[in-house]
Amino acid sequence: MVCSTSAQGYKRLLLLSRPILECQTHAVIPEQSRVFIGLPVTGWLPQSKEPRQSGSQVMIADNFGRALENDTADRVLIIGSGPSGMAVSKCLTDRGVGHQLVDHYGDAGGAYVRMYPRMYLSSPPNYLGLPKASSPQGDGHISAGQYASYLRQYADQFNIRPLRRTVRRIIRDEREFFVEFEGGHGDYFAAVVVCTGMFDNPHVPAILGLGGAGRNPQDSIRWIHACEWTGPSLLSGKRVLIVGDGMTAVELAEESVRGGITPILSSRSPMKPPFPGRILGVEPRFITYPLMRRAPLWMFRKQCGMGWKFRGIDRGFWNFTRRHMIELRPMIREVNGRCVTFADGSHADIDLLVFATGYRFNMPFLPEGLREGIDETPRVRDGESVMWPGLYCVGVPCARKINSHFIFGIAEDAAVVSSAIESRLALCKAQSLLTSHSAE
Ligand SMILES: Cc1cc2nc3c(=O)[nH]c(=O)nc-3n(C[C@H](O)[C@H](O)[C@H](O)COP(=O)(O)OP(=O)(O)OC[C@H]3O[C@@H](n4cnc5c(N)ncnc54)[C@H](O)[C@@H]3O)c2cc1C
Repeated sequence: MVCSTSAQGYKRLLLLSRPILECQTHAVIPEQSRVFIGLPVTGWLPQSKEPRQSGSQVMIADNFGRALENDTADRVLIIGSGPSGMAVSKCLTDRGVGHQLVDHYGDAGGAYVRMYPRMYLSSPPNYLGLPKASSPQGDGHISAGQYASYLRQYADQFNIRPLRRTVRRIIRDEREFFVEFEGGHGDYFAAVVVCTGMFDNPHVPAILGLGGAGRNPQDSIRWIHACEWTGPSLLSGKRVLIVGDGMTAVELAEESVRGGITPILSSRSPMKPPFPGRILGVEPRFITYPLMRRAPLWMFRKQCGMGWKFRGIDRGFWNFTRRHMIELRPMIREVNGRCVTFADGSHADIDLLVFATGYRFNMPFLPEGLREGIDETPRVRDGESVMWPGLYCVGVPCARKINSHFIFGIAEDAAVVSSAIESRLALCKAQSLLTSHSAE
């Protein structure tokens, strides 16, 4: 993966009238500083929250370039320092673009430093490399713990040091984006890259008899989400029910069996066999991943809106199931005390319920009107918000391609988004120079 540096040809950029306009149309511009240019623009009406009609014959040059005068200022904010934020940070650094990287926890690695370390990643190691670094080493698949070490090394090697800050709110202001951090202080940025992942937002389905998504002290059954799983060692002799049918459910069930437990696995639809590790000696992802790179996004629009699931790898699952070491049941109908009733009317007494029911993206710092779909993420094209140009998303499904939420897609998108940000800042700066010259 290359994060190449492109030359900043201001003269050439000045000829690109449309991006110049896009650089400004969503700023709230003081009346006296507007200049009419008379070219088609799309985007937002200044001083209005309404989207403007595409093709209108108007405007503008503005004065928000004041925010962009200093070349070395941290004009770009990256929120989140998981693989996405780290990849974008590295690519921007390579381009000489000053930026601030903030993270709620203040350390690099994101989800992988908090994930159960013995969980295996479904992607082969050569699809887990970040920009300008070799891929992590390992035969077969590596664990979350091994990948967390790789990410820490990456941060050390490229001096990626996030500030410990939590973003509470982003609003558009006359100097582009005003970002409010926890504690009440805030700052202006010309571009914002949202890399906040989903791991902080585990999803728990509503089940009759349980207190809902939040843990309820009244719940008569002990339950956890898979992100709190610490292994089967303390569960010996206990009845464990795992809810879900994706990668995590499969792995937890296999690990439970190896830990001497016979888990029950409850899934909404009949359990599909996980991917075999190899088909005819070939890792299937060596075929599917390159196809994902090439697949046109429009063919998957529906799927993009519905969310994606990571399919597990069979490390004994199907064999354990055949030998009744994993019990398959349909979805849960109701929980009553420790008794769980399933959709087929069968019952089981359970000591621990484990929800391997995935995660949802959560961007509460963005206005509601900007978020859509099951994941409530902004609609983006080529990684940039359609409604708020200058706001970028990396690591979200279909941000640019159908591999955008996989690490290998994240590495590719980070390079593209960084290039777009560099061009955007150059265009804004060129615009600001143009405006100040015409004022003279
Ligand atoms: C269980 C699981 C297994 C996966 N396995 C694979 C796999 O095998 N292969 C693959 O390619 N992909 C896999 N993925 C998908 C993808 O690799 C991960 O989701 C990855 O963590 C995405 O990186 P990220 O940087 O976008 O998000 P994260 O790693 O989640 O990092 C986001 C960071 O942003 C911070 N943050 C969130 N909100 C704020 C805020 N308001 N202010 C400041 N900071 C904030 C968080 O604290 C976190 O540190 C997996 C995902 C999960 C959940």
